Amino acid sequence: MVLKTCLIANRGEIAVRIIRACREMGVRAVAVYSDADKGARHVRLADEAVWVGAAPPKDSYLNIAALIKAARQTGCDCVHPGYGFLSENEDFAAAVIDAGLVWIGPPPDAIRAMGVKTEARSLMERANVPLVPGFQSDTATDADFIEAADRIGYPVMVKAAGGGGGRGIRVVRRADDLPEALAGARREAQNAFGDARVFLERYIEHGRHIEIQVLADSHGNTVHLFERECSAQRRHQKVIEESPSPLVDDAMRYAMGDAAVEAARAVGYVNAGTVEFIVTPEKAFYFLEMNTRLQVEHPVTELVTGLDLVKLQLAIAGGEPLPFTQADLAQRGHAIECRLYAEDPRSGFVPSPGTLLAFEAPDAPGVRVDAGVETGDTITPYYDSMIAKIIVHDETREGARRRMAAALRDTVVFGVATNRDFLRALVGHAAFTAGEVDTTFIEAHLDELTAADDGAANALDMALIAAALSEVQAEPTISAKQVASTPDPWARGDGFRIGG
Ligand code: ADP
Ligand code: ADP
Ligand code: MG
Repeated sequence: MVLKTCLIANRGEIAVRIIRACREMGVRAVAVYSDADKGARHVRLADEAVWVGAAPPKDSYLNIAALIKAARQTGCDCVHPGYGFLSENEDFAAAVIDAGLVWIGPPPDAIRAMGVKTEARSLMERANVPLVPGFQSDTATDADFIEAADRIGYPVMVKAAGGGGGRGIRVVRRADDLPEALAGARREAQNAFGDARVFLERYIEHGRHIEIQVLADSHGNTVHLFERECSAQRRHQKVIEESPSPLVDDAMRYAMGDAAVEAARAVGYVNAGTVEFIVTPEKAFYFLEMNTRLQVEHPVTELVTGLDLVKLQLAIAGGEPLPFTQADLAQRGHAIECRLYAEDPRSGFVPSPGTLLAFEAPDAPGVRVDAGVETGDTITPYYDSMIAKIIVHDETREGARRRMAAALRDTVVFGVATNRDFLRALVGHAAFTAGEVDTTFIEAHLDELTAADDGAANALDMALIAAALSEVQAEPTISAKQVASTPDPWARGDGFRIGG
């Protein structure tokens, strides 16, 4: 069937990204917004926009009834959930389908099967996908967990069964610390996911996070789009992603790809999804989880495969068969993505909401910027504080790395603190250059990586800059970048970023 009008049940950069795909496919894009997002970029760009509630997510972007109503009101025939929010909520998927709309995502049963990590592990075990040794039980006592951890061998990781976004995770190195870690993880999991269940996995020391993008149509065709490496993590959340992985050779690539396709087939997967693996320094790989949605870092795969994943999602949801087979797919060149956040690395990465007095994105060959905001827009305290994803592509990894370094140098943000200099330090680090960053690297080198930051400006600096910029913005012939390149008392080295 031909999809005509799409409700985008999300906000920010991913809503903007989906609007672009809709435009190219001739699909009308209907945005939704909360009180905090009146006049936001995704609202401005959409063909139509519907208010769905107050700023707190539960009142708006997580409000299933309001979203379905908005879709009906505007004559939508399909719904794209983006990532985060309701994208992995099987009740929302089912409600969309029950309302007679097309769900641009996997079947609710596949979401359910992968939604609880312990159940996904059981399923993957039956499908012969390699698993990290672990222990799971809904009735076990702490004593049972301690006994299991002895069997698995320390260190172990306590993980939330219903987890996501790196929350409800604890690394435990000795039996004495296990009861406290179990209690802490349960508490965090209950608060974050409303599900206190936890389980154990052997902790893979110096592991690498490598994931496989899969695509499946509704005609039984399932392919993989190779790997992304996302080992640059802070608190188990991704900071930089790239493809190909510097660790993976062809044999490993195809073994991981086959395992991911098996995993997808085992749950009757349709649409785009990602199978995440943890990889040991000896290159053994184990299933971690499957994310049953579009991933934040999907652009790196788009740049190396030349495919548009969001357009493919729409085509698949519309019932079209995949326009290629596995043999048609190849990786070309190298892509890297950095997540630019409004946060202050010098104060424990605390979010830094506020108005973007200026946001100048890098503009150069081989650079793509996916942003939900522009100058004058606000990073609200209600949602994720990402400003933009900066993505680069070049023939070689080193070429892409240098291109990213230059792109970050050209990124100008005024009005909020950002992690830009932290990203620059990471991209410029010898370990990143060598392709040797593992999932523990950032935490182990935090002082070094944040020292490069020239520090948050004091209140007086900020006031002066704000005043200077409001004058600049009244004068359209001078851009913020020109101001940035003008020597002045506040300029702090090249790039001229001042955090607040
Ligand atoms: P990924 O591998 O795609 O980063 P995660 O499971 O870490 O997957 O989280 C999904 C993404 O969705 C995260 O980057 C997170 O910032 C985003 N996200 C989760 N919840 C929200 C939310 N309430 N609002 C906006 N973004 C969210
Ligand atoms: P989430 O749903 O929060 O994304 P994951 O299972 O994907 O949870 O784990 C998040 C991150 O935690 C991984 O990317 C990896 O860095 C780390 N991790 C998870 N399990 C293990 C493990 N068994 N050994 C080592 N690191 C792990
Ligand atoms: Mg994960």
